[in-house]
Amino acid sequence: MQLARFPRARLAHLPTPLEPLDRLSRELGGPTLFVKRDDCTGLATGGNKTRKLEFLLADALRRGADTIVTEGGAQSNHCRQTAAAAAKLGLACHLVLQSSSEAQAPDYEETGNVLLERLLGAELHFVAASADRSAELRRVAEGLEAAGRTVCTIPTGGSNAIGGLGYVSCAFELLQQAQQRQLAIDAVVHASGSGGTQGGLVVGFAAANADVATIGFDVTAVPPEIEARVRDVVRGTADLLGLPGGIDPARVILRMDQAGPAYAVVTDAAIEAIQLAARLEGLLLDPVYTAKAFAGLIALVRDGYFKRSDNVVFLHTGGTAALPAYTTQLTDER
Ligand SMILES: *Cc1c(COP(=O)(O)O)cnc(C)c1O
Repeated sequence: MQLARFPRARLAHLPTPLEPLDRLSRELGGPTLFVKRDDCTGLATGGNKTRKLEFLLADALRRGADTIVTEGGAQSNHCRQTAAAAAKLGLACHLVLQSSSEAQAPDYEETGNVLLERLLGAELHFVAASADRSAELRRVAEGLEAAGRTVCTIPTGGSNAIGGLGYVSCAFELLQQAQQRQLAIDAVVHASGSGGTQGGLVVGFAAANADVATIGFDVTAVPPEIEARVRDVVRGTADLLGLPGGIDPARVILRMDQAGPAYAVVTDAAIEAIQLAARLEGLLLDPVYTAKAFAGLIALVRDGYFKRSDNVVFLHTGGTAALPAYTTQLTDER
């Protein structure tokens, strides 16, 4: 496998399970639905960033880094997984966390992922919603370098060419699971935020010559940016792997209809998705990412987008560690 030439730190529980969603499939009356449990990657409550970090942190170690700096929103799952991975690998970790521009609960910057990051020993640098977060990231990194640390900076969501390799490997893993069950997967549906998950999947399916539609639901509410981010990862990761002829741009299917008014604003459709998945399957979704993507999947099924004979996989990318930060939205408003 081409992936074997890239250094990789073993951080995730792999393969993640591929499970049927029998009751949901019956309830919705459309294609046969499955869930790929990347919420169960195992590292400090799991999630999709762990696959990317296997390649990103191995690269950082190879370059002699002793300190990791990364950034995200206040309830970033990426930052929590980076803090855990850094702890496991003996690296210092600094997180630049941006306050939400939306009204959130009073304990939004203390509970959920923030609590876990503190337990994991990361150093947190909060910036205001209006601040230039990348500038603060550079400032923190430069300060650490000046103090003699060897710093590796990881971009938002771990979404660059190297991070994309994590989801190339997920695509391969999923195809292998499907083959073992003699299952033909027609589509994978998931949330897209910084683009690495979708970009990596697209490259992986293309590399394997697999005809699997990769349908990403935007959660950022900034359509031109998400499109550019996914395409950047596709280009960068395909280049790293030396894929001849590049990737057919039509392999990237982005849907913009579930983001709601803004990132981290809970929508009614997301709440419906959370309740449906929880009550029919015992499956927990998060309101920022997976519930919006699952709401999108429900809408596609109801619109007759899929054939009854299709096999559709929902990629659960994690995020449930953030649930306590949304207690108000998930209870009071109901
Ligand atoms: C980061 C994240 C995503 C989005 O993945 P990207 O690779 O950033 O597009 C989806 N779901 C959860 C729970 C996440 O934390």
